Amino acid sequence: MNAVFNRPLFDRLAIIGIGLIGSSIARAAREHGLAKHIAIADANEAHRRQAQELQLGDSVHTDAAEAVKDADLVLLCVPLGANAAVAAHIGAALKKGAIVSDVGSCKQAVIRDVAPHLPPGVHLVPGHPVAGTEHSGPKAGFATLFQNRWCILTPEAGTDARAVEKVKAFWAAIGSKVEIMEPRHHDLVLAITSHVPHLIAYNIVGTADDLETVTESEVIKYSAGGFRDFTRIAASDPTMWRDVFLNNKEAVLEMLGRFTEDLIALQRAIRWGEGDTLFDLFTRTRAIRRAIIDAGQETAAPDFGRSPAAKGDTQA
Ligand code: NAP
Repeated sequence: MNAVFNRPLFDRLAIIGIGLIGSSIARAAREHGLAKHIAIADANEAHRRQAQELQLGDSVHTDAAEAVKDADLVLLCVPLGANAAVAAHIGAALKKGAIVSDVGSCKQAVIRDVAPHLPPGVHLVPGHPVAGTEHSGPKAGFATLFQNRWCILTPEAGTDARAVEKVKAFWAAIGSKVEIMEPRHHDLVLAITSHVPHLIAYNIVGTADDLETVTESEVIKYSAGGFRDFTRIAASDPTMWRDVFLNNKEAVLEMLGRFTEDLIALQRAIRWGEGDTLFDLFTRTRAIRRAIIDAGQETAAPDFGRSPAAKGDTQA
């Protein structure tokens, strides 16, 4: 917790989109007493009802413009493709001095879609918690999701420093480690650490599903051979991931180009029986796994974190 700010950090926090990420933030903010009033808005009636039943906020609204009225911090937690319409709708209702932030997995697109709709005197501090699961909706959230996970903030040059500090303090208070990054660099880093891995998972599961020589029951029966780990990632929300690829096209294509070249080199090594090439790569990659575990970003448990206590997570 940043000592500069006393709890609660905000009088009114508005969360637009009460799905996995929004509801996890609501739970964590409530648990840590970070806002006097949490206002929630969601376009999905069933999700609004669940938010009420789970008591995720102090007020639940159908109209996002009502939720953001008088809010000090507005967090957009909707799919990337919905940001522009939500920002256009709430823009006029934002109070002077309000901070607008978000949780979207691509940052250049958020700035492109949200900034034009914000009135003067409103501060945009885009953010991305690098934490998540393959589940969606308000019931999927949990207060500890962000603990010991990175949250990357990508404010543009000239953004009000105090607004940035307040968003930073908010994420730190719910357990995140916070880093400031250029939006373009963020999109490149996440393309290789998150977006391309998801694409590979979607592709390999799709390929297995299309096979004619191996039956579906065999794919399921022998999935523990490696395939199973890909299926968890490939079960991630289709809307969210469609929007990620539509909104981080340039960086994903750049990383996919590199990936394809390396894959062809491996194909060649297999064809020509170059065992040393394979062995050297597999040794290098094993060390990377070790480094991720040592950094506390994964568990070395033999169930790969699948037990309910260790909630498997993806980093979107
Ligand atoms: P989610 O569980 O599907 O929640 C999104 C919520 O927003 C849903 O209730 C959705 O309703 C609602 N919504 C959609 N359009 C809306 C609109 N125009 N106005 C108000 N509400 C709207 O998704 P999520 O996983 O929390 O992801 C939200 C954001 O977090 C995305 O931008 C994603 O890139 C980012 N993120 C996700 C993860 C992850 O692992 N899931 C990690 C980090 C960041 P419907 O269900 O009816 O569409």
